[in-house]
Amino acid sequence: MLIDRKMTAGLNAQIGREFSAAMQYVSMAAWFAAKGLGGFAEFFHKQAAEETEHGLKIVRYLGDVGGTVEIPEIARPRSDYATVEDALRHFVEMEEEVTRAIYALVELAQSEKDHSGNHFLQWYVEEQREEVTSARTLLEKAQRFGEERMLLLDGALGSD
Ligand code: MG
Repeated sequence: MLIDRKMTAGLNAQIGREFSAAMQYVSMAAWFAAKGLGGFAEFFHKQAAEETEHGLKIVRYLGDVGGTVEIPEIARPRSDYATVEDALRHFVEMEEEVTRAIYALVELAQSEKDHSGNHFLQWYVEEQREEVTSARTLLEKAQRFGEERMLLLDGALGSD
């Protein structure tokens, strides 16, 4: 047993957050698609696939260190937004929340002297820095384009 109970519980909770983000982004992708914004929809489908992979990476890690995988219940994602800006604000908030959760896990790993867990989580620290930056950048772009010209930003996203 290379991992203690607290870290196992913390990492299982993180699997839940990653899968929950994945479902939220699938839901957002569907919302954008219904608005005729296929570029945004594709962006969020890719985002969802990444979040799923983040969760699976923890599942594999727990297997490697002898921790029990217990995937938590996933809450129903939000399915409606007033505006594109509203949806993107939710995207930023979610990534900021995941970042705070990762930091708390790093602190737990450090206090438990779980060096392997701490090392494993550093990948997520870097990943979250990129995610929060990209979410904020997308929100700022959407604010500058405005709802009336969102199709232009959508087209630019689709060609990425
Ligand atoms: Mg993630």
